[in-house]
Amino acid sequence: EGKIMADKLRRIMDLKNNIRNVTVVAHVEHGKSTLVDSLMAAASESSSSIKSTGTTLYYEMTDAALKNYKGERQGNEYIINLIDSPGHVDFSSEVNVALRITDGALVVVDCVKGVSVQTETVLRRAFEERVRPVLTVNKMDRCFLELQVDGEEAYQIFSRVIEDANVIMATYTDRLLGDVQFDPEKGNVGFSSGLHGWGFTLKSFANMYARKFCVDENKMMERLWGENYFDSATKKWTSRNTGSPTCKRGFVQFCYEPVKQIIKTCMNGEKEKLWLVLQKIGVTMKSEEKDLTGRALMKRVMQNWLPVSSAVVEMMIFHLPSPATAQKYRVENLYKGPLGDIYANAIRSCDPEGPLMLYVSKMIPTSDKGRFFAFGRVFAGKVSTGLKVRIMGPNYVPGQKGNLYVTSVQRTAIWMGKKHESVEDIPCGNTVSLMGLDQYIKMDATLTNEKEVDAHPIRAMVFSVSPVLRVAVQCKVASDLPKLVEGLKRLAKSDPMVVCSIEESGEHVVSGTGELHLQTCFSTLENEIMGGVEIVKTHPVVAFRETVIGGLDFKDCICSKNMKNLTLQARPLEVELADAIDEGLFGLQTNPKGRSKVIVERFGWDQDLAERIWCFGPDGIGPNILVDKCKGGFQHMGKIKDAIVAGFQLGTESGAMAGERMWGVCFDLHRVAFSVVPKSRMEKQIMKNMQMVLQGSQMAANPRLMEPIYLVEIRAPVDVLHHVYNVIHEKRGQVIQEVLWPDTPLYNIRAYLPVIESFGISGQLTAATSGKATIVCMFDHWEVMPFDPLEAGSRAAQVVADIRRRKGLREMMRNPRVR
Ligand code: GDP
Ligand code: MG
Repeated sequence: EGKIMADKLRRIMDLKNNIRNVTVVAHVEHGKSTLVDSLMAAASESSSSIKSTGTTLYYEMTDAALKNYKGERQGNEYIINLIDSPGHVDFSSEVNVALRITDGALVVVDCVKGVSVQTETVLRRAFEERVRPVLTVNKMDRCFLELQVDGEEAYQIFSRVIEDANVIMATYTDRLLGDVQFDPEKGNVGFSSGLHGWGFTLKSFANMYARKFCVDENKMMERLWGENYFDSATKKWTSRNTGSPTCKRGFVQFCYEPVKQIIKTCMNGEKEKLWLVLQKIGVTMKSEEKDLTGRALMKRVMQNWLPVSSAVVEMMIFHLPSPATAQKYRVENLYKGPLGDIYANAIRSCDPEGPLMLYVSKMIPTSDKGRFFAFGRVFAGKVSTGLKVRIMGPNYVPGQKGNLYVTSVQRTAIWMGKKHESVEDIPCGNTVSLMGLDQYIKMDATLTNEKEVDAHPIRAMVFSVSPVLRVAVQCKVASDLPKLVEGLKRLAKSDPMVVCSIEESGEHVVSGTGELHLQTCFSTLENEIMGGVEIVKTHPVVAFRETVIGGLDFKDCICSKNMKNLTLQARPLEVELADAIDEGLFGLQTNPKGRSKVIVERFGWDQDLAERIWCFGPDGIGPNILVDKCKGGFQHMGKIKDAIVAGFQLGTESGAMAGERMWGVCFDLHRVAFSVVPKSRMEKQIMKNMQMVLQGSQMAANPRLMEPIYLVEIRAPVDVLHHVYNVIHEKRGQVIQEVLWPDTPLYNIRAYLPVIESFGISGQLTAATSGKATIVCMFDHWEVMPFDPLEAGSRAAQVVADIRRRKGLREMMRNPRVR
């Protein structure tokens, strides 16, 4: 039976206009998983709950529903590849991963709670990936059952949600993506109750009323939103409320109240009346359904009348692009190679006959211990069982040897909620699961055919969330250590936001984005990966960054002591520029020309200076810059440039004070001088030398520690507000916004909070407000700690000392300028 379904899905996978790849995004608890479950239940009759990640849905449109569809299509059958990403803010990396392999996003917002910081972040990421969104205002049932708001109030609540989302969208314009404003009149906004399985767009109602009023469906849709009022007494439309008691907003009159009426009739058990109404609107009930009562009856009636799958799925089909459409403009974001080569062209035209271009975005643990399957998207060509593929790591460069493997795909499968169904092959435009590649892929990779030696990989993802919390781990039983080492490797593989490292002291350290994220990681590690082996964890410690603030008295440069051949000066980089690099602005812009253009135009650098930038670091993408300021140049620079760059990468990875990464430092290389022509065997020495000079110049330029700051959002009723403020202030927090949430007694408070102070805040808030306040934290930015770490006894010096002790570092390098 699964096989039959798989064959059916596979058939539609060839119809590239009839596919939608969609990420479902929402703030935690806004009902995303419940909604996805109810869409799945409708599509496959199995209502098993899926836990995160992917599924493929089948949906057949009626001719009537497709009447106004203008896009290309091949028949009425569609498939939707849905990815449900975990909602908590700590996991936003997962969202990034999902967006990369989808072209559309279904944004789910709880109508009562409204748009949150997290929704904002997700929308931004969607834009960056050129993913088009549709919105559904969810948990609609709450308006009728819990809140019992009247139609006009409800309208205000919904329009507020839509407006809030649009404010975020308005800050983005993308010529290629076009208009992305949410507008119920256009049909890209849904109203749903995932829990009860019903939902609608204005199209659902416009279709019913168009006939009644003898107007066009689109015209009717316009009347069902905004300032359009209908007086049922005079049967006249007006553009404002006339004040007559029978005059009501179109939306209220024709959408909200009919729903309200039916829900009420069901809940009151007025069955005779109900059957009459249902007959009038053409809803049929099976005889056994007629025996239902109360909530169960209400749910069934609503599901039969306004099935959520029709509303939401049709909205996705109408308003989200097919791969055939989306790949035309996404190719620029996706492909790392020349945009005119055969690979780019095959992606652009979503060509199943072209060379294989498949992006693996995630390695997912299977029930088979120790094995992963590779989940990703085919952008061009086809992948099939047994196919020999070239696996390019994210940093692979054609012509070079590293980051490349050739192997065969063991199995190609469609992911249907819980199960994988094997299929012969999968063509471009679809998501896919592959077995047998887990030894070769760390996290993400690009696959192409064996023979395609000049293909470039799909761009690696840039994660703007930093793992700011670290925990040292040990085994309870020392002999379990090999298991732990292996387990940590696998943990890092399954989640791009986890970094596992070994300190110089020999400690194993796991870094994540927040307390909750780490808790989840450890639970996965202990229970799923290590099969119950107990581990001992230290209290989480915060990651810091090292920077410089420079100063007028630092005219002198630092040159290497023993060889005197490199002269370097450190200075602070513009914060805006460092931020932009950190957030991945240049992640997509690796060619030096394009990069210097942006730096000149947006950050006001001198053209000449911008062109002298050698690289960013650490890892080639970090927020520190190396600039070649050598006058006249050095004759043999070409020979040693690589070694200098390598030294810069190492040095920025581990600062001089506490071995933490550097942030926002520009290093000017003033002089390179060698008495002899540098030989290649000197490379290592030059690299080491560069690293030393780099750290020396940092120490000479007024070094500072930077601490991570969370943006926290707290919701609380007014009566406990002062307790909330007390907690924030106690923890060095700084309130930046306080707004009353419309139509609720809740205040929404946003504040900056040093991560180091954030431990246990959730518990403290709960205690102080008897559980009335909720909080979410997300990393926001790095901030210079207002103390001199070189001044003995200062708070920053204390932090430095603690980190050094923990890491087992020896004595700190002295400021080379102070004798
Ligand atoms: P997620 O975190 O966004 O995946 O949210 P879930 O789907 O796990 O739902 C969070 C909570 O909201 C659960 O208690 C659900 O039962 C409830 N919920 C989800 N959808 C609805 C809905 O449409 N109406 C109501 N009233 N509650 C809902
Ligand atoms: Mg969920």
